[in-house]
Amino acid sequence: MKSLFSLSLLISAIIYKRQYDHQNVENINIDNIYGQKFDYIVVGAGAAGAIVAYRLADETGATVLLLEAGGQQNFNNDIPAFQDKVENSVQNWNYTSTENDQIAAGRVFGGSSAINSMNYYRESPDYYRLWADITGLSNVWSYDNVLPYFLKSENNLDQKLVTNSPGYHRRGGRVTVTSSQPNAMMKQLLISAQLFGHKLTFSDGRKPMGTAVLQNTIDANRSRVSTGTAFLENNCLKNLNILGNSLVTKIIFNKRKQAIGVEFYRSDRKYRVFANKEIILSAGSIGSPKLLMMSGVGPRDHLKQFGISVITDVKVGHNFVHSLGIIMTFDIINQSMVMAPTNTFNNFVDYYIRHTGPLGYNQSTIICFPELAYSRTYPELSNGCVMARTGLLGNRIVLFFIVILKHPKTSGRIELTSGNPFTSPIVKICKLCHKSDIDKLIKVIKLALPIFTSSHMKKYIKINAIADCYPCNGNYFCYQYIRCILQKRTILPVPMGGCRMGVSPDNGAVVDKNFKVFGVHGLRVIDSSIIPVPSEQGNAISMMIGEYGADTVIKNK
Ligand SMILES: Cc1cc2nc3c(=O)[nH]c(=O)nc-3n(C[C@H](O)[C@H](O)[C@H](O)COP(=O)(O)OP(=O)(O)OC[C@H]3O[C@@H](n4cnc5c(N)ncnc54)[C@H](O)[C@@H]3O)c2cc1C
Repeated sequence: MKSLFSLSLLISAIIYKRQYDHQNVENINIDNIYGQKFDYIVVGAGAAGAIVAYRLADETGATVLLLEAGGQQNFNNDIPAFQDKVENSVQNWNYTSTENDQIAAGRVFGGSSAINSMNYYRESPDYYRLWADITGLSNVWSYDNVLPYFLKSENNLDQKLVTNSPGYHRRGGRVTVTSSQPNAMMKQLLISAQLFGHKLTFSDGRKPMGTAVLQNTIDANRSRVSTGTAFLENNCLKNLNILGNSLVTKIIFNKRKQAIGVEFYRSDRKYRVFANKEIILSAGSIGSPKLLMMSGVGPRDHLKQFGISVITDVKVGHNFVHSLGIIMTFDIINQSMVMAPTNTFNNFVDYYIRHTGPLGYNQSTIICFPELAYSRTYPELSNGCVMARTGLLGNRIVLFFIVILKHPKTSGRIELTSGNPFTSPIVKICKLCHKSDIDKLIKVIKLALPIFTSSHMKKYIKINAIADCYPCNGNYFCYQYIRCILQKRTILPVPMGGCRMGVSPDNGAVVDKNFKVFGVHGLRVIDSSIIPVPSEQGNAISMMIGEYGADTVIKNK
């Protein structure tokens, strides 16, 4: 048996190597950058942007500058059970809404893919049909059209899934995906869901109705795979120039409304860099609309309010879409059923040496319901979805139960709060404005809660009361109770849509089918802000958009 000392040494060496990889992403000397020209400038190294920059550099040989406002990842990003830690760190932009919601978004190499919950989910064929309908681009958006772009980056280590799903999954891409093994608690939940008729289904959304254990962007060593680690670390491409801690504050346009460069700040100093070909915004669902508006691309009246000269009047920030979710918790009666993801030496040994133990997991099961059809046209497109995972709450492990209304009627708008690029924009929303949303949420809860309160589950979990919300005579489905939970516990999983794609700016679209911003030249948006239909799982979809968008640029469309 290895001694404690040699184990500590081995773990330190592994952590040192990981930190080294994280720290060496930046490869350009800031002292020489002022006024430099690159073929492409990509703003934001997130789920989409890191892929766009990498593919453009790799597949065209062009010079690319990737500018990221955040800095390097660290070993906390690697450890799946430390997801909360990185979410509650300087790596989060922590945007806020007019209803005081905290809206998380990654500010680090890898963007939100470096702080997210690592679920890998692609959504259903009907989801993309709805994209086609809303954007009016039926030739562009379909499951068949997007599938190759999911596959391009995929390295799926679930050999059984790959073998049994020809055409749907593959090995060999840069983003490693694995299936997690449900712990004892999640296994009981899966049994309970099946007792209620929710059969096991695929984890990728191909057939969304039923219960699935989601796959994760976690590698064989149980280390998080962000687009930062997958595409930017150990980068051998000399033409891919990467700079962190660089906040882009403005896109520079010439008189012909051609985007020719960007201004950015690093350590309080202002820099200007220029693009021979194009500028691509991948600053995320809130970052991209903000930067466009700061640069004069947005609703005229709103920009004038802050003294910003208008380059083109388009509805940037409108059509901001999001799912609605409520989090409830259940106490796990027998804590020995689940392992606490605590920082004990043994847990680190298990994690780093044996690639097992509680630090390597962040489990989610997904359960969707066909009964709540989104529309008559797409009866299979479920409107309700439930996710469950175990995790620490204080010093006890609880079962988190998240009820999601995938496509609520309510939508929002992103607005600037000042003309100062260093201030945060605000997300204007109204979560409880549509009674039909609350009615639908009640329906989802009615379908889902029995799985958790069944006689099968009573042995294992007990519902936790929500402070100051009282079920009506023990009835958890009454309107007042749900409204109260909504007020106290509603989250907005994964915002999208402030630069919606479409055929014309007259219909509220900001970018065309080739991701080009209407009304200007040389500027595209390639990230989750172009998405017209919300999903509570934006990571795989944003990576797909990164691949799709990069290919569109490469093909010179
Ligand atoms: C806490 C959390 C948990 C999540 N869990 C999941 C999950 O389990 N599964 C899932 O599918 N999805 C999940 N998501 C959502 C998913 O990660 C996002 O939808 C996806 O990453 C969005 O990709 P993006 O490229 O549009 O933006 P991002 O990945 O957010 O990247 C945008 C990048 O642009 C940078 N940037 C912004 N403004 C500027 C600027 N002015 N100058 C320079 N750089 C800038 C940002 O710092 C960031 O790095 C989660 C998100 C969060 C925040």
